[in-house]
Amino acid sequence: MNNIVYKDRHVTVFQSALFQTNSTVVEMEDVVLVVDPAWLPDEVIAISNYVEKIRCKRELFLVFTHSDYDHIIGCGAFRPDKVFMSRAMVENPDKELRLQEVIEFDDAYYIKRPYPAVYPQADFTIFRDAVQYRHHSTKMTFYLTPGHTADSMMVVVWQIGLCIAGDYLSDIEFPVIAHSSVEYEISMNKLLAIHDRNWFTRLIPGHGSLSLSINDWLQRRTESLSYIYALREHIATGVAIDEAALWARYHFPLSQKKVHSDNIELMRREYEQGLWTWRPAESTGLNVELTEQDDQE
Ligand SMILES: [Zn+2]
Repeated sequence: MNNIVYKDRHVTVFQSALFQTNSTVVEMEDVVLVVDPAWLPDEVIAISNYVEKIRCKRELFLVFTHSDYDHIIGCGAFRPDKVFMSRAMVENPDKELRLQEVIEFDDAYYIKRPYPAVYPQADFTIFRDAVQYRHHSTKMTFYLTPGHTADSMMVVVWQIGLCIAGDYLSDIEFPVIAHSSVEYEISMNKLLAIHDRNWFTRLIPGHGSLSLSINDWLQRRTESLSYIYALREHIATGVAIDEAALWARYHFPLSQKKVHSDNIELMRREYEQGLWTWRPAESTGLNVELTEQDDQE
């Protein structure tokens, strides 16, 4: 299959032709995980065929990092034993809208899918940080990471040092802040605590290249925060944003210019509402104590 961009003993990453969207398949001894299977019908069917070929009698778990329509569009092609998502995703008031975006996308490009368009139904809901789920010898730990969307989360597969991050820490796009820059910053700070609890080395973003070393994802984190701080400075003091540097770093200006101006608009509203005020250390994400919660199964 030609859209596999990474493969080792446990991890296979399929990358869509659209927006370099990553779909991850993790093979453990007793379970196969599929995270955010995406985009075009052939691509999703290739992932589903691959999973059926390798899974033998293992259970199949489906994980959604957030509810953006590009991440749920493949949901209906799978018959998982369990589906994992954040409580905010379960309770998302815009569920119907997300599903409508899937339908409108397919309509716009005359796409027919051999599976239904559905919004994922949760079997296991993550409602706080560091919730663990253990399935025989496989341990997953989930963290709530709002900012890009209100319902974003990350999952760490403990044994293989892998963090699947959703739409954060991309090397091809700057932060897409559809929810809150304050929460986004807290989630980026929390990432350090997530690392310290789990010692993951590799990180898979929702879009773009895999981050295969700690230095690499730390660099991406710094770039994400610098972007947010540059926008804050621009909004609060009027200092111009260095657009030439931005578009030298990120190579898809035609679509990303709109995202950039939406970010500024959202953050200007935050500024006007006084949301950037000083916060106590416990709420900045930097000093969070991520105590693992009871195992749940
Ligand atoms: Zn996405």
